[in-house]
Amino acid sequence: MFMHFDHAEIEEGPMGHMVEDRHLRRALLKAVAADPAITMLNDTRVTDQTVEPTGITLTLDGVKTLRARLAVGADGRGSGTAERAGIKRIAWSYGQTALVCVVDHEKPHHGIAHQFFMPPGPLAILPLTGNRSLIVWSEASANAAAINALPDAQYLDVLRPRFGSFLGELSLTGPRYSYPLGLSLAHSMTAPRVALLGDAAHGVHPIAGQGLNAGLRDVAALAEVIADAVRRGEDPGNDAVLARYQEWRRFDNASLALATDSFNRLFSNDNALLRLARDMGMAAINALPGLRRTFIREAAGLTGDLPRLMRGKPL
Ligand SMILES: Cc1cc2nc3c(=O)[nH]c(=O)nc-3n(C[C@H](O)[C@H](O)[C@H](O)COP(=O)(O)OP(=O)(O)OC[C@H]3O[C@@H](n4cnc5c(N)ncnc54)[C@H](O)[C@@H]3O)c2cc1C
Repeated sequence: MFMHFDHAEIEEGPMGHMVEDRHLRRALLKAVAADPAITMLNDTRVTDQTVEPTGITLTLDGVKTLRARLAVGADGRGSGTAERAGIKRIAWSYGQTALVCVVDHEKPHHGIAHQFFMPPGPLAILPLTGNRSLIVWSEASANAAAINALPDAQYLDVLRPRFGSFLGELSLTGPRYSYPLGLSLAHSMTAPRVALLGDAAHGVHPIAGQGLNAGLRDVAALAEVIADAVRRGEDPGNDAVLARYQEWRRFDNASLALATDSFNRLFSNDNALLRLARDMGMAAINALPGLRRTFIREAAGLTGDLPRLMRGKPL
């Protein structure tokens, strides 16, 4: 069963853009370095935090301290900020590992992304510049470790039958990576004087390629809530301000966690009943342009209450 989402079905332009992490990081670091209000502390780790009624003190590498009215924990799935603030999390492993690499291929991809759903997990082929694509290939973890241990030529031999021949001959370019996959959802996005964002609040399965996008929406929402609070003369770290941020983002993030978890369970298996259910679901989406457009707009991040920064407006 095939399902095709075409951005021409919506008016807002491409469904998404593929941006290589290395370019994104370089651009973000450059922007941060150019902002005199931000001090970059490289190779420094937050080791402790103490909440007081009017602020929070962070300890860096067990020695230096920083004090502020609000600490934002953007420290990923194993967030120490969340742990120190006593925020619990729901977490489980999918027993899958994503193998990630870039391939060169003979034929052009025409800017089309593909995702093949196979019992051990999805295989995503995502267009990059030139005749190159990023592969995010999920396998059961034990099998992924065995594949990852293979030399490049044999690794490609395992990939080829899964990938198919529609882009011609394949070759590997650059290093290969692997990421164990799991869900990690914080019970709360806030605690006194603390806000969590990105994977620190919600680490999800990459099946929909939405993790970083959701994190960027958190950033934009928190920035807007803080900017509005400061304009009104409020303390940006007080409970009422943090509650506004949590109210804005929590439902979206919990829904994303639930949707990615359900998609992965529905698609990464060979159960005949589930196969029938997903074939019927896909047939319905194919037959109903309105429903298909809803999916495209959702994946493109065009739905919901978008923060000003996400709409290209100033804070
Ligand atoms: C295989 C794969 C494919 C993906 N594809 C997509 C995609 O196509 N689109 C998409 O939107 N998302 C995708 N994602 C998800 C995306 O990668 C994550 O959502 C995103 O990287 C999370 O960013 P983050 O900054 O919140 O957390 P992280 O990237 O985990 O960064 C956390 C940072 O905090 C730092 N840190 C941790 N503890 C401390 C401490 N004590 N002191 C100081 N610093 C600390 C860490 O060093 C790290 O730099 C994918 C994920 C995977 C695994």
